[in-house]
Amino acid sequence: MAAKRLPIVILGGGTAGWMTAAALAVHLPADRYAVTLLESDEIGTVGVGEATLPHLRAFNSWLGIDEARFMRETGATFKLGIEFRHWNRALRPYIHPFGAFGEPWSGIEFQHHWMRLKASGRPVRPIEEYSFSVAAARGGFFDFPSQDRRSPRSTFSYAYHLDAGLYAAFLRRFAESRGVSRVEGKVKGVGRDGVSGRLAELTLESGGRIAGDLFIDCSGFRSLLLGGELGVQWQDWSHWLPCDRAWAVPCTLASEFTPYTRATAAEAGWLWRIPLQHRVGNGYVYSSRFLSDEKARETLLSAIESPPLAEPRPLRFRPGKRRRAWEANCVAIGLSGGFLEPLESTSIFLIQAGVMDLINLLPDAGAPFGDARLRDEFNRLYDLQYERIRDFLMLHYFANDRHGEALWDYVRGMELPESLKHKMQLFRARAVLPNYQYGLFSRDSWLAVLVGQGIVPDRYSPLADALPVDAIEQKLAQFALDIRLGLDHMPTHGEFIDRYCRAPAAGMSA
Ligand SMILES: Cc1cc2nc3c(=O)[nH]c(=O)nc-3n(C[C@H](O)[C@H](O)[C@H](O)COP(=O)(O)OP(=O)(O)OC[C@H]3O[C@@H](n4cnc5c(N)ncnc54)[C@H](O)[C@@H]3O)c2cc1C
Repeated sequence: MAAKRLPIVILGGGTAGWMTAAALAVHLPADRYAVTLLESDEIGTVGVGEATLPHLRAFNSWLGIDEARFMRETGATFKLGIEFRHWNRALRPYIHPFGAFGEPWSGIEFQHHWMRLKASGRPVRPIEEYSFSVAAARGGFFDFPSQDRRSPRSTFSYAYHLDAGLYAAFLRRFAESRGVSRVEGKVKGVGRDGVSGRLAELTLESGGRIAGDLFIDCSGFRSLLLGGELGVQWQDWSHWLPCDRAWAVPCTLASEFTPYTRATAAEAGWLWRIPLQHRVGNGYVYSSRFLSDEKARETLLSAIESPPLAEPRPLRFRPGKRRRAWEANCVAIGLSGGFLEPLESTSIFLIQAGVMDLINLLPDAGAPFGDARLRDEFNRLYDLQYERIRDFLMLHYFANDRHGEALWDYVRGMELPESLKHKMQLFRARAVLPNYQYGLFSRDSWLAVLVGQGIVPDRYSPLADALPVDAIEQKLAQFALDIRLGLDHMPTHGEFIDRYCRAPAAGMSA
């Protein structure tokens, strides 16, 4: 007789629900696990989320998804980084690229050589002129990274701008064709096991019931299972990240689509611009403590490059996370587990990280809840991701020079978490950058934002003094030249999309 399959129930069919379903469909043995996804068309999804991180490439290829097809079906464009405008008005806009600045040399990281040259009084370029991805982004170029490790064209990675609604629909087709059952309906109640107190079944308004051994809560901000039923508390970070609202509105593409996201600081938050193939996504993330909804809406409408394609949509959120993402037999993935504002496009990454960690730590089909260490490890990784992302986001706010604007004055004066203070002190003292083996963000990302926001280290590594300054000058000049030469014959972003993944005009949502 065939062994019983472990029933897994996913509640919610937004980006989180369908990313989870698709990954489980591919990576779990179908004879040991049965996956059902429940969603409510009437409730719908949050419907925003267009900028991603390079990790999504790894996720898609882990599922065996063809990139060109995925890009055509989601109206996607390429993203080489994020441009930050007006966060520090005394400085020019900077790009946080998905790529390296220079290269380590004689075992010493690039920023030390760059600072040494600066300190010597010789001419030195701004740090971003030593980044191939910044040069390609500013020039509006795109091509795949080179496999030749000696070429500056091998020093970058890329992500996508995509239509998150189309991505969820794409993954739904993908997951259903691989055995995931989808149920449409609205949850009315949750049944528990009388002895253990674990979740046992969802009851629907229609009267149906869905039983499960493991429940994945992808119900969005509602967090019906983890927050609602199991009562896992919310850890509020609004004193550190005061933005709690957004308006979002699409408009037509008025020019070439840039291969980067733009985040422009404004009176009480920042404006996003995300170019897709069929439209531009725009939004204003702001703090309701410092700006009225009406003023924020007006600011957004006056900032967009062409007439809006729809009425602006208001969104409300609370920055923070649940104290635990895995409790009893319930794991929260997506907005049900936490939310940090989209300044560095981290939410879809957090979904992906949650799904991958869950698959790695999934309870055995034969002994579903025997080992609390699996749960504790999942929660440890989840905390780590959130805390690191929080610190990185806070850095953008804290190091601003927008004096005289209430939000910006507040964030410049706020008490920082010890973890961020420590990172900033290390950089200030000796240009030392965090080096993570797991999770976000890389050293180059920290370098981009620290320098871009105007934080200048007092010293660099003394090891850099051991090299002759002439040699450093020559090395940096050669690197900048190689970058410029590397851009030769590179197609523009638009040309590349035309030949690789142009979406048919019809069938795209606005
Ligand atoms: C302003 C803003 C901008 C953002 N921008 C980005 C970005 O650029 N990049 C990025 O990575 N992320 C971004 N995000 C985050 C991104 O939108 C979300 O991480 C992503 O959409 C995942 O949402 P979700 O699937 O968790 O929730 P949702 O999309 O809200 O889905 C919830 C699901 O649960 C179902 N559900 C809820 N209650 C019930 C019920 N009672 N019965 C049955 N079903 C139910 C709903 O029907 C729906 O299917 C942004 C978020 C906001 C708020």
